[in-house]
Amino acid sequence: MIDVEAFSCQELVELVTDYLEAALSPADVRRFEDHLAGCDGCTEYLAQFRRTIQLMGTLTPADLTPAAESALLGVFRSWSSGQSGTVEPDG
Ligand SMILES: [Zn+2]
Repeated sequence: MIDVEAFSCQELVELVTDYLEAALSPADVRRFEDHLAGCDGCTEYLAQFRRTIQLMGTLTPADLTPAAESALLGVFRSWSSGQSGTVEPDG
């Protein structure tokens, strides 16, 4: 049980619907919330996601995925470039 690594921002974005649907295992929920505790970007993402769900009245991953996801990842990449964490090498 040592290889519990915090989620990366990308993993978190991919799992946010599962998190909100309570579809994650308790261990993954913990990793998810551990990441949120140290990541303002993902905290804000989750807040916006919840706001969107309130407006739409439902989870709509199809609407929120590829465009929203890539836009968010672009934001993450720019603000996290100076921080420790999981930033992909930019070539
Ligand atoms: Zn994050």
